[in-house]
Amino acid sequence: MSYKLTNLKGVGEKKALELNNLGIFSLKELIDYYPRTYEVIGDIKSIKDTKQNGKELIKCTFVEAQKTRILRRNLKITKIKFESEGSIFYATFFNNPYISSFFKKDEEYKLYGKVEKKGNYYEMVSPKYAKLNDETSIKIGLNPVYPLSSKSKITNKELKKFALNALDIMTIKDFIPENIKDEYNLCSLYDAYKGIHNPKMLDDTLKANERLTFDEFCGFNLSMILNKNLNMGVKGEIIEVNYKQDFLDKLPFTLTDSQNKVIKDIEDDFISGIKMNRLVQGDVGSGKTVIAMYGVFLAVMSGYQAVFCAPTKILASQHFEKMKEIFDNFNIRMEFLYSGMTAKEKRLAYERIESGISNVIVGTHAVFSKKVKYKNLALAVIDEQHRFGVMQRGFLTKKGDSVHTLVMSATPIPRTLALSIYKDLDVSIIDKKPSGRKEIKTYFKDYSYYDRVYRFAVKQISEGNQVYVVCPSIDSEDLKAAEDIYEKLNKTYFKNINTALIHGKMPEDEKDRIMDDFYRGKIKALVSTSVIEVGIDSKDATLIIIEDADRFGLASLHQLRGRVGRNDKESYCILLSNNQSKKSIERLSFLSKNTDGFKIALYDLKTRGSGDILGVRQSGKDGYNIYKLIENSELFNKAKDAMEDILNDNTKENRDYLKYIKEKYSSISKNITWN
Ligand code: ADP
Ligand code: MG
Repeated sequence: MSYKLTNLKGVGEKKALELNNLGIFSLKELIDYYPRTYEVIGDIKSIKDTKQNGKELIKCTFVEAQKTRILRRNLKITKIKFESEGSIFYATFFNNPYISSFFKKDEEYKLYGKVEKKGNYYEMVSPKYAKLNDETSIKIGLNPVYPLSSKSKITNKELKKFALNALDIMTIKDFIPENIKDEYNLCSLYDAYKGIHNPKMLDDTLKANERLTFDEFCGFNLSMILNKNLNMGVKGEIIEVNYKQDFLDKLPFTLTDSQNKVIKDIEDDFISGIKMNRLVQGDVGSGKTVIAMYGVFLAVMSGYQAVFCAPTKILASQHFEKMKEIFDNFNIRMEFLYSGMTAKEKRLAYERIESGISNVIVGTHAVFSKKVKYKNLALAVIDEQHRFGVMQRGFLTKKGDSVHTLVMSATPIPRTLALSIYKDLDVSIIDKKPSGRKEIKTYFKDYSYYDRVYRFAVKQISEGNQVYVVCPSIDSEDLKAAEDIYEKLNKTYFKNINTALIHGKMPEDEKDRIMDDFYRGKIKALVSTSVIEVGIDSKDATLIIIEDADRFGLASLHQLRGRVGRNDKESYCILLSNNQSKKSIERLSFLSKNTDGFKIALYDLKTRGSGDILGVRQSGKDGYNIYKLIENSELFNKAKDAMEDILNDNTKENRDYLKYIKEKYSSISKNITWN
């Protein structure tokens, strides 16, 4: 029989609703609600043996509770007196007046928290508490810490209790084929859940993590394989490749060997008669755009339409202008599409596209709108694909069956993993940047250098260059800080300089206008939150100052740094931070000495560590970060091998497992985040 949440001990209709608020509607979902991390509780002690640095577990007897004092409407304080091997101490609880009734005279309890010595007695503030023999709420060793939400009244204690109860009453059917389980030395599904919710030792959580991740990775591989089969061998228009020299003649530079190799891959795809699905991967500034432009050029010269999609309007319009410079020489007619166009503008554009008057359509995701009917679309380019996710591509495929697809990404993934992740894509990698490009000089300084840094900025601008100032921004308070920095600079260093502020909360058109003015050199200094991270390309920008740089991820900092050094001028990135922690100093120093995006991403992953024991573990249905895949690529490859074996051997056991992971994990591939 199948059980409901209300079959659990202590769960009535009300509690069930609170669980629903956490997204838990069934026992299955309950046991798939994984801890965020584990708290390690050391041996139980008497209060006078405490060292008073971290949290400690204290064995004690209840003496009496003082009357709750109400200090303010929202502040009720209850002090409770305990005894621990002859020493008296007090525990203070806030806004929990009913707590006194939990403790019974002369019974034994354990309290977990920080112990402080106050004069000649000890005190604990808001400790966790449980009966001495209660091994569910607090136990020595690993205690799961679940992600909680302000939307639900469920406590950590309850989640753990309910999860364990669920594991007791459910039958956990394990579909993994025996031979696979043996070959990869995996634990059973039941042990995995036990190890997640009630580990005895660290090793249990690792084994559990490995098993559940293995299933996830199998699910991921399966959906990619199925996708590939859908896409494989689909017919594609033949695009002629006879016009290379005409195109090259119009470029202000010569292509690098790296770029030429990728172009060759694309040309081979174009003449194959089979639909292209190609990912071009290259670090920021490696020169991906021109490759895509060449593809577009060939498609149009062969008489087809091509579409070029970028994640933001400003990026799309930059691409538009760059292409126009070249394409105007060939009478190629271009169309720019974005969602903010007036109804009339849209209608006219749609007409030109449908009739085939427009050959190249550049824009934001508006180009994929159902209302846009292409006359003879043969190529779609998607720039900065990590901003779109995997979904958009699927959508594209429906547009026209034989549309060649070229996706561009700056997310650094090792080639072998890229090939596995993007089963349905072929991968080309630009591994060398255009030569003559100077390395961006990166300096990490504390705020005692503030004056020198901004005087340097003024000097750069006086020499005809442009400057970015980037401030971290997560919430409205940060936004205020960015505004303050802008105001302050406007009154001081940048007093006589055309300066603007830009942030994500601004209306789109205002953002576009500012970006455009910066791009055209009207604005010399741009104070910004991290909205500029994506691909803006202003040749005269030679300096980027990043305020409170310790608050950014290294991968983001690397992307931000890529905004300067976009021609042969000497360029600089200055990381300002007063954070004195060893870790922060090491991270920022690492960035200032390294320029390889992939190396930086991996280092970032390793050092960002929130102390999580569980590498990949996070509720599988939320998906996970791409770098977690990279970190676990060994397990990923095992799952990939296993999947191939399973698919090649059509037994009932294998089919059952396929069905299980498909149902459970098929959405993962759509939920990979890229930075
Ligand atoms: P990304 O790979 O980050 O999209 P872009 O395509 O925007 O990089 O190229 C960065 C800059 O380098 C652009 O200004 C582009 O015109 C220039 N560029 C591209 N290829 C070359 C090359 N072979 N030689 C010199 N400059 C190049
Ligand atoms: Mg780009």
